[in-house]
Amino acid sequence: MRSISKSTLQRLPIYLSFLKQHCDSEFVSATVISKALSLNDVQVRKDLAAISSSGRPKVGYCRCTLILELENFLGYNDNENAVIIGVGNLGTALLNYEGFEQYGLQVIAGFDIDESKIDEKRKIFHISKLKDLCKRLNIHIGIITVNVEQAQLCCDELVDAGITAIWNFAPTHLNVPSYVHVQRENMAASLAILSRHIKDNKNN
Ligand code: ATP
Repeated sequence: MRSISKSTLQRLPIYLSFLKQHCDSEFVSATVISKALSLNDVQVRKDLAAISSSGRPKVGYCRCTLILELENFLGYNDNENAVIIGVGNLGTALLNYEGFEQYGLQVIAGFDIDESKIDEKRKIFHISKLKDLCKRLNIHIGIITVNVEQAQLCCDELVDAGITAIWNFAPTHLNVPSYVHVQRENMAASLAILSRHIKDNKNN
């Protein structure tokens, strides 16, 4: 994969969803995208140049080609399978969410330690089956939705099962070997920004 910055990477899905849902012209320029999304024109131009060489001066990008290039770059056509540990309220919601498929992610099973939650017909298995299933199906992505106290233990189990990318919804730091990437879904950080915004508005 070509190396691009994390902030560019995080903007690419935003371009993609704009191109797919809110744009129907055959050709589209960086200027049109930047205006529609209230982003900096130069930044959008640089982002798109990093993943595509199909843009033409004065014409812009063929929209369909750019969609394919973005999807390929983001790996949406690669179809990765993932597992979830912790089938509580959040874990259940993520396990049943069908929207991940459009991003090439299929959550194929959930694992829990609580016997009362095991229901193999609904793809929920006992945690003791994690390693065998991950190795057999060559799974690389693990999602953690257990409570904070159990998160490191579950993380270690995922690493032992061969997982190399972890999406962590537990609000805690996880220690992993250097070849494993942890993406923390930091709800506290997002909420802090929202409540700051509300406070600032009240003070003005
Ligand atoms: P619930 O309402 O079902 O308790 P919750 O999301 O509020 O859901 P949490 O305490 O956050 O509950 O735990 C989430 C899930 O993680 C629970 O189903 C729990 O059984 C499971 N869990 C906790 N520890 C482990 C573990 N070591 N291995 C696997 N699953 C675990």
